[in-house]
Amino acid sequence: MEVKLRNIGKKYEGREEFTLRHIDLDIADRDFCVILGPSGCGKSTLLRMIAGLNSITEGELVFGDRVVNHVPPKDRDIAMVFQSYALYPHMTVYDNMAFSLRMRKEQNSVIDTRVKNAAKLLQIDQYLYSRPSDISGGQRQRVALGRAIVRKPQIFLMDEPLSNLDAKLREQMRVELVRIHQQMQTTTIYVTHDQTEAMTMATKIVLLNNGVIQQAGTPNEFYNAPQNTFVAQFIGSPTMNLLDGTLVNGVFRMENDEVRIVPTPEDLERLRPYEGKRLIAGIRSERFLSREDEMQNPFDATVDVVENLGKEQSLFVKLPSGKDLVLTMPGYLDFSQGQKDTFGFASNAMHYFDGETEERI
Ligand code: ADP
Ligand code: MG
Repeated sequence: MEVKLRNIGKKYEGREEFTLRHIDLDIADRDFCVILGPSGCGKSTLLRMIAGLNSITEGELVFGDRVVNHVPPKDRDIAMVFQSYALYPHMTVYDNMAFSLRMRKEQNSVIDTRVKNAAKLLQIDQYLYSRPSDISGGQRQRVALGRAIVRKPQIFLMDEPLSNLDAKLREQMRVELVRIHQQMQTTTIYVTHDQTEAMTMATKIVLLNNGVIQQAGTPNEFYNAPQNTFVAQFIGSPTMNLLDGTLVNGVFRMENDEVRIVPTPEDLERLRPYEGKRLIAGIRSERFLSREDEMQNPFDATVDVVENLGKEQSLFVKLPSGKDLVLTMPGYLDFSQGQKDTFGFASNAMHYFDGETEERI
Protein backbone atom coordinates (compact mmCIF):
# COMPACT_ATOMS: atom_id res chain seq x y z
CA MET A 1 0.00 0.00 0.00
CA GLU A 2 1.27 3.43 -0.97
CA VAL A 3 1.31 6.10 1.76
CA LYS A 4 1.32 9.79 0.89
CA LEU A 5 1.71 12.68 3.30
CA ARG A 6 0.63 16.00 1.87
CA ASN A 7 1.93 19.06 3.72
CA ILE A 8 1.13 17.55 7.09
CA GLY A 9 1.43 19.64 10.25
CA LYS A 10 0.84 18.85 13.89
CA LYS A 11 0.16 21.22 16.74
CA TYR A 12 -0.60 19.64 20.11
CA GLU A 13 -3.28 21.37 22.12
CA GLY A 14 -1.79 23.74 24.69
CA ARG A 15 1.48 24.04 22.76
CA GLU A 16 2.61 27.27 21.11
CA GLU A 17 4.66 25.74 18.35
CA PHE A 18 3.89 23.17 15.70
CA THR A 19 5.59 19.85 16.52
CA LEU A 20 5.68 18.87 12.82
CA ARG A 21 5.71 21.23 9.84
CA HIS A 22 5.22 20.78 6.08
CA ILE A 23 5.72 17.03 6.03
CA ASP A 24 5.55 16.07 2.34
CA LEU A 25 6.40 12.48 1.69
CA ASP A 26 5.65 9.65 -0.73
CA ILE A 27 6.19 6.14 0.59
CA ALA A 28 5.97 3.60 -2.22
CA ASP A 29 4.23 0.25 -1.97
CA ARG A 30 6.61 -2.30 -0.36
CA ASP A 31 9.03 0.37 0.85
CA PHE A 32 10.83 -0.10 4.13
CA CYS A 33 10.73 3.54 5.14
CA VAL A 34 12.73 4.54 8.20
CA ILE A 35 11.81 7.77 9.97
CA LEU A 36 15.03 8.82 11.66
CA GLY A 37 15.97 11.69 13.94
CA PRO A 38 17.13 12.72 17.41
CA SER A 39 14.94 12.22 20.44
CA GLY A 40 12.03 14.68 20.56
CA CYS A 41 12.11 15.60 16.85
CA GLY A 42 8.56 14.31 16.27
CA LYS A 43 9.05 10.75 14.96
CA SER A 44 6.50 9.06 17.21
CA THR A 45 4.05 11.92 16.68
CA LEU A 46 4.25 11.32 12.92
CA LEU A 47 3.89 7.55 13.21
CA ARG A 48 0.91 7.92 15.54
CA MET A 49 -0.75 10.23 13.03
CA ILE A 50 -0.31 7.58 10.34
CA ALA A 51 -1.76 5.02 12.76
CA GLY A 52 -4.73 7.25 13.58
CA LEU A 53 -3.77 7.56 17.26
CA ASN A 54 -2.97 11.29 16.91
CA SER A 55 -5.18 13.80 15.13
CA ILE A 56 -3.82 15.59 12.05
CA THR A 57 -3.78 19.40 12.45
CA GLU A 58 -3.20 20.22 8.79
CA GLY A 59 -2.56 18.47 5.52
CA GLU A 60 -3.71 15.19 4.07
CA LEU A 61 -2.82 11.58 4.79
CA VAL A 62 -3.51 9.26 1.86
CA PHE A 63 -3.39 5.43 1.78
CA GLY A 64 -3.50 4.26 -1.84
CA ASP A 65 -6.00 6.77 -3.21
CA ARG A 66 -8.07 7.12 -0.04
CA VAL A 67 -7.75 10.13 2.29
CA VAL A 68 -7.71 8.61 5.77
CA ASN A 69 -7.38 11.70 8.01
CA HIS A 70 -10.60 10.81 9.81
CA VAL A 71 -10.62 7.04 9.45
CA PRO A 72 -10.41 5.35 12.89
CA PRO A 73 -7.30 3.21 13.54
CA LYS A 74 -9.15 -0.10 13.38
CA ASP A 75 -10.32 0.65 9.83
CA ARG A 76 -6.86 1.60 8.50
CA ASP A 77 -5.63 -1.99 8.02
CA ILE A 78 -2.37 -1.36 9.87
CA ALA A 79 -0.49 -3.23 12.60
CA MET A 80 1.77 -1.44 15.02
CA VAL A 81 4.75 -2.70 17.04
CA PHE A 82 6.11 -0.61 19.90
CA GLN A 83 9.32 -0.56 21.90
CA SER A 84 7.48 -1.91 24.92
CA TYR A 85 5.74 -5.07 23.82
CA ALA A 86 2.93 -5.61 26.30
CA LEU A 87 2.03 -9.29 25.95
CA TYR A 88 -0.79 -10.91 27.91
CA PRO A 89 1.14 -12.67 30.69
CA HIS A 90 -1.49 -15.35 31.38
CA MET A 91 -1.71 -16.42 27.74
CA THR A 92 0.65 -18.69 25.81
CA VAL A 93 2.70 -17.34 22.92
CA TYR A 94 0.21 -19.00 20.59
CA ASP A 95 -2.78 -17.32 22.22
CA ASN A 96 -1.04 -13.94 22.29
CA MET A 97 -0.47 -14.17 18.57
CA ALA A 98 -3.97 -15.52 17.86
CA PHE A 99 -5.75 -12.93 19.99
CA SER A 100 -6.51 -10.25 17.39
CA LEU A 101 -7.60 -12.86 14.84
CA ARG A 102 -10.02 -14.41 17.35
CA MET A 103 -11.41 -10.94 18.04
CA ARG A 104 -12.00 -10.64 14.31
CA LYS A 105 -13.78 -14.03 14.43
CA GLU A 106 -11.45 -15.64 11.89
CA GLN A 107 -11.85 -19.39 11.36
CA ASN A 108 -9.75 -21.56 13.68
CA SER A 109 -7.99 -23.23 10.76
CA VAL A 110 -7.00 -19.84 9.33
CA ILE A 111 -5.76 -18.68 12.73
CA ASP A 112 -3.76 -21.85 13.23
CA THR A 113 -2.06 -21.61 9.84
CA ARG A 114 -1.18 -17.93 10.25
CA VAL A 115 0.14 -18.28 13.80
CA LYS A 116 2.28 -21.27 12.90
CA ASN A 117 3.64 -19.65 9.73
CA ALA A 118 4.52 -16.45 11.60
CA ALA A 119 6.15 -18.46 14.40
CA LYS A 120 8.28 -20.31 11.88
CA LEU A 121 9.30 -17.09 10.15
CA LEU A 122 10.31 -15.63 13.51
CA GLN A 123 11.92 -18.85 14.73
CA ILE A 124 9.78 -19.08 17.83
CA ASP A 125 7.83 -22.20 16.82
CA GLN A 126 9.27 -24.22 19.70
CA TYR A 127 7.90 -21.71 22.22
CA LEU A 128 4.29 -21.56 20.99
CA TYR A 129 2.95 -23.12 24.17
CA SER A 130 5.25 -21.24 26.59
CA ARG A 131 4.14 -18.21 28.54
CA PRO A 132 5.86 -14.81 28.04
CA SER A 133 7.53 -15.11 31.46
CA ASP A 134 9.29 -18.31 30.35
CA ILE A 135 11.01 -16.86 27.25
CA SER A 136 13.77 -14.27 26.79
CA GLY A 137 13.30 -10.58 26.04
CA GLY A 138 14.36 -11.09 22.45
CA GLN A 139 11.84 -13.89 22.03
CA ARG A 140 9.10 -11.75 23.57
CA GLN A 141 9.86 -9.01 21.05
CA ARG A 142 9.49 -11.64 18.30
CA VAL A 143 6.07 -12.56 19.69
CA ALA A 144 5.10 -8.89 19.51
CA LEU A 145 6.20 -8.87 15.86
CA GLY A 146 4.30 -12.12 15.33
CA ARG A 147 1.12 -10.54 16.64
CA ALA A 148 1.45 -7.88 13.96
CA ILE A 149 2.41 -10.30 11.17
CA VAL A 150 -0.57 -12.66 11.63
CA ARG A 151 -2.94 -9.82 10.93
CA LYS A 152 -1.59 -9.47 7.38
CA PRO A 153 -2.02 -5.72 7.42
CA GLN A 154 -1.51 -3.41 4.45
CA ILE A 155 1.04 -1.41 6.46
CA PHE A 156 3.38 -2.21 9.36
CA LEU A 157 4.15 0.64 11.73
CA MET A 158 7.04 0.14 14.15
CA ASP A 159 8.24 2.56 16.82
CA GLU A 160 11.78 1.75 18.00
CA PRO A 161 10.95 -1.96 18.28
CA LEU A 162 14.57 -2.99 18.93
CA SER A 163 15.52 -0.35 21.48
CA ASN A 164 15.01 -2.63 24.49
CA LEU A 165 17.23 -5.40 23.14
CA ASP A 166 20.94 -5.77 23.83
CA ALA A 167 23.42 -4.86 21.09
CA LYS A 168 24.01 -8.35 19.76
CA LEU A 169 20.35 -9.25 19.57
CA ARG A 170 19.59 -5.91 17.94
CA GLU A 171 22.10 -6.65 15.21
CA GLN A 172 20.56 -10.07 14.63
CA MET A 173 17.00 -8.71 14.57
CA ARG A 174 17.97 -6.03 12.03
CA VAL A 175 18.89 -8.75 9.56
CA GLU A 176 15.75 -10.73 10.38
CA LEU A 177 13.45 -7.74 9.93
CA VAL A 178 14.93 -7.20 6.48
CA ARG A 179 14.42 -10.89 5.67
CA ILE A 180 10.83 -10.79 6.92
CA HIS A 181 10.15 -7.67 4.90
CA GLN A 182 11.55 -9.30 1.78
CA GLN A 183 9.26 -12.27 2.28
CA MET A 184 6.11 -10.38 3.19
CA GLN A 185 6.59 -7.34 0.91
CA THR A 186 4.41 -5.23 3.20
CA THR A 187 4.91 -1.46 3.27
CA THR A 188 6.71 -0.75 6.53
CA ILE A 189 7.23 2.55 8.34
CA TYR A 190 9.84 2.18 11.02
CA VAL A 191 10.84 4.84 13.58
CA THR A 192 14.30 4.96 15.14
CA HIS A 193 16.93 7.38 16.46
CA ASP A 194 19.66 4.91 15.42
CA GLN A 195 21.36 5.78 12.12
CA THR A 196 22.80 2.26 11.83
CA GLU A 197 19.29 0.77 11.83
CA ALA A 198 18.27 3.27 9.18
CA MET A 199 21.31 2.66 6.97
CA THR A 200 21.09 -1.14 7.20
CA MET A 201 17.33 -1.69 6.87
CA ALA A 202 15.75 1.16 4.92
CA THR A 203 14.86 1.31 1.27
CA LYS A 204 14.05 4.94 2.05
CA ILE A 205 15.21 7.13 4.93
CA VAL A 206 13.43 10.27 6.13
CA LEU A 207 15.53 12.34 8.52
CA LEU A 208 13.64 14.74 10.80
CA ASN A 209 15.00 17.52 12.96
CA ASN A 210 12.79 19.86 15.00
CA GLY A 211 9.70 18.61 13.19
CA VAL A 212 11.02 19.35 9.70
CA ILE A 213 12.25 16.88 7.06
CA GLN A 214 15.96 17.44 6.43
CA GLN A 215 16.30 14.91 3.64
CA ALA A 216 14.47 11.90 2.20
CA GLY A 217 16.21 9.31 0.06
CA THR A 218 18.09 6.04 -0.11
CA PRO A 219 20.85 5.16 2.40
CA ASN A 220 23.33 5.66 -0.43
CA GLU A 221 22.10 9.18 -1.14
CA PHE A 222 22.28 10.03 2.56
CA TYR A 223 25.84 8.80 2.87
CA ASN A 224 27.21 10.20 -0.35
CA ALA A 225 25.18 13.36 -0.85
CA PRO A 226 23.95 14.74 2.49
CA GLN A 227 21.78 17.82 1.88
CA ASN A 228 23.14 19.87 4.79
CA THR A 229 25.64 19.65 7.64
CA PHE A 230 23.03 18.25 10.04
CA VAL A 231 22.41 15.27 7.74
CA ALA A 232 26.16 14.95 7.09
CA GLN A 233 26.88 14.60 10.79
CA PHE A 234 23.84 12.50 11.73
CA ILE A 235 24.63 9.72 9.26
CA GLY A 236 27.85 7.74 9.49
CA SER A 237 30.14 6.74 12.32
CA PRO A 238 32.64 8.27 13.02
CA THR A 239 30.85 11.50 12.10
CA MET A 240 31.93 13.45 9.05
CA ASN A 241 34.79 15.93 9.65
CA LEU A 242 33.82 19.53 8.90
CA LEU A 243 36.24 22.41 8.36
CA ASP A 244 35.46 26.12 8.13
CA GLY A 245 37.24 28.05 5.45
CA THR A 246 37.07 30.26 2.39
CA LEU A 247 37.46 29.73 -1.34
CA VAL A 248 40.41 31.86 -2.48
CA ASN A 249 41.40 31.74 -6.16
CA GLY A 250 39.68 28.38 -6.56
CA VAL A 251 41.35 26.77 -3.53
CA PHE A 252 39.61 25.96 -0.25
CA ARG A 253 41.68 27.37 2.61
CA MET A 254 41.20 27.13 6.32
CA GLU A 255 41.53 30.52 8.05
CA ASN A 256 45.03 29.93 9.41
CA ASP A 257 46.07 28.24 6.15
CA GLU A 258 46.96 24.93 7.77
CA VAL A 259 44.71 23.15 5.29
CA ARG A 260 44.43 23.80 1.57
CA ILE A 261 42.23 21.70 -0.67
CA VAL A 262 42.14 21.92 -4.45
CA PRO A 263 38.61 20.95 -5.54
CA THR A 264 38.00 18.68 -8.52
CA PRO A 265 37.03 20.55 -11.71
CA GLU A 266 33.39 19.42 -11.24
CA ASP A 267 33.32 20.69 -7.65
CA LEU A 268 34.93 23.95 -8.70
CA GLU A 269 32.19 24.49 -11.27
CA ARG A 270 29.58 24.52 -8.50
CA LEU A 271 31.82 26.44 -6.07
CA ARG A 272 32.55 29.32 -8.43
CA PRO A 273 29.82 31.65 -7.06
CA TYR A 274 31.28 31.16 -3.56
CA GLU A 275 34.68 32.72 -4.31
CA GLY A 276 35.63 34.76 -1.23
CA LYS A 277 32.67 33.48 0.81
CA ARG A 278 32.59 31.28 3.91
CA LEU A 279 32.43 27.58 3.10
CA ILE A 280 32.36 24.36 5.07
CA ALA A 281 34.34 21.44 3.66
CA GLY A 282 33.45 17.93 4.80
CA ILE A 283 35.23 14.60 4.52
CA ARG A 284 34.38 11.17 5.91
CA SER A 285 37.04 9.59 8.08
CA GLU A 286 37.78 6.73 5.69
CA ARG A 287 38.53 9.04 2.77
CA PHE A 288 41.73 10.60 4.15
CA LEU A 289 44.98 9.68 2.42
CA SER A 290 48.05 8.40 4.25
CA ARG A 291 51.71 7.63 3.52
CA GLU A 292 50.56 4.57 1.53
CA ASP A 293 48.64 6.64 -1.00
CA GLU A 294 49.56 8.99 -3.76
CA MET A 295 49.39 12.22 -1.77
CA GLN A 296 46.92 15.06 -2.48
CA ASN A 297 46.27 18.18 -0.41
CA PRO A 298 48.73 17.15 2.33
CA PHE A 299 48.58 18.41 5.91
CA ASP A 300 50.58 17.76 9.07
CA ALA A 301 48.92 16.50 12.22
CA THR A 302 49.76 14.93 15.54
CA VAL A 303 48.18 11.64 16.52
CA ASP A 304 46.29 12.14 19.76
CA VAL A 305 44.46 8.84 20.32
CA VAL A 306 44.59 5.54 18.43
CA GLU A 307 41.51 3.34 18.69
CA ASN A 308 42.39 -0.01 17.19
CA LEU A 309 39.44 -2.04 15.91
CA GLY A 310 41.54 -4.78 14.31
CA LYS A 311 40.65 -4.51 10.65
CA GLU A 312 40.87 -0.73 10.89
CA GLN A 313 41.78 1.97 13.35
CA SER A 314 40.34 5.35 14.25
CA LEU A 315 43.01 8.03 14.56
CA PHE A 316 42.07 11.12 16.48
CA VAL A 317 44.55 13.71 15.26
CA LYS A 318 45.14 17.40 15.93
CA LEU A 319 46.14 20.09 13.46
CA PRO A 320 48.73 22.64 14.73
CA SER A 321 45.84 25.01 15.60
CA GLY A 322 44.28 22.37 17.84
CA LYS A 323 41.46 21.49 15.42
CA ASP A 324 40.48 17.80 15.86
CA LEU A 325 39.94 15.40 12.99
CA VAL A 326 39.07 11.70 12.99
CA LEU A 327 40.66 9.45 10.37
CA THR A 328 40.01 5.78 9.66
CA MET A 329 43.16 3.96 8.59
CA PRO A 330 43.79 0.29 7.73
CA GLY A 331 44.63 -1.81 10.79
CA TYR A 332 48.03 -2.90 9.48
CA LEU A 333 49.55 0.61 9.43
CA ASP A 334 51.55 1.58 12.51
CA PHE A 335 50.56 4.69 14.42
CA SER A 336 51.34 5.67 17.98
CA GLN A 337 50.19 8.42 20.26
CA GLY A 338 52.19 11.65 19.92
CA GLN A 339 53.44 10.73 16.46
CA LYS A 340 53.56 13.49 13.84
CA ASP A 341 52.60 12.46 10.35
CA THR A 342 51.42 13.77 7.01
CA PHE A 343 47.93 12.93 5.77
CA GLY A 344 45.93 14.19 2.84
CA PHE A 345 42.42 15.09 1.65
CA ALA A 346 41.30 13.17 -1.42
CA SER A 347 39.87 15.88 -3.67
CA ASN A 348 37.15 13.62 -5.05
CA ALA A 349 35.94 12.76 -1.54
CA MET A 350 35.07 16.29 -0.49
CA HIS A 351 31.62 17.62 0.37
CA TYR A 352 31.08 21.39 0.34
CA PHE A 353 28.42 23.33 2.23
CA ASP A 354 27.42 26.99 2.21
CA GLY A 355 28.98 28.60 5.30
CA GLU A 356 25.80 30.61 6.02
CA THR A 357 22.92 28.24 5.26
CA GLU A 358 24.91 25.03 5.84
CA GLU A 359 23.18 23.59 2.75
CA ARG A 360 25.05 21.33 0.33
CA ILE A 361 26.62 23.04 -2.67
P1 ADP B 1 10.32 11.46 19.17
O1 ADP B 1 9.47 10.25 18.99
O2 ADP B 1 11.03 11.87 17.93
O3 ADP B 1 11.27 11.34 20.32
P2 ADP B 1 7.81 12.75 19.89
O4 ADP B 1 6.99 12.69 18.66
O5 ADP B 1 7.50 11.79 20.96
O6 ADP B 1 9.36 12.71 19.50
O7 ADP B 1 7.69 14.21 20.51
C1 ADP B 1 7.89 15.39 19.74
C2 ADP B 1 7.56 16.59 20.58
O8 ADP B 1 6.16 16.61 20.84
C3 ADP B 1 8.24 16.62 21.94
O9 ADP B 1 8.61 17.95 22.22
C4 ADP B 1 7.16 16.15 22.89
O10 ADP B 1 7.33 16.70 24.16
C5 ADP B 1 5.91 16.67 22.22
N1 ADP B 1 4.73 15.84 22.54
C6 ADP B 1 4.62 14.50 22.34
N2 ADP B 1 3.40 14.04 22.73
C7 ADP B 1 2.73 15.14 23.17
C8 ADP B 1 1.40 15.35 23.70
N3 ADP B 1 0.54 14.33 23.82
N4 ADP B 1 1.07 16.61 24.05
C9 ADP B 1 1.92 17.65 23.90
N5 ADP B 1 3.17 17.52 23.42
C10 ADP B 1 3.58 16.29 23.05
MG1 MG C 1 9.49 8.38 20.02
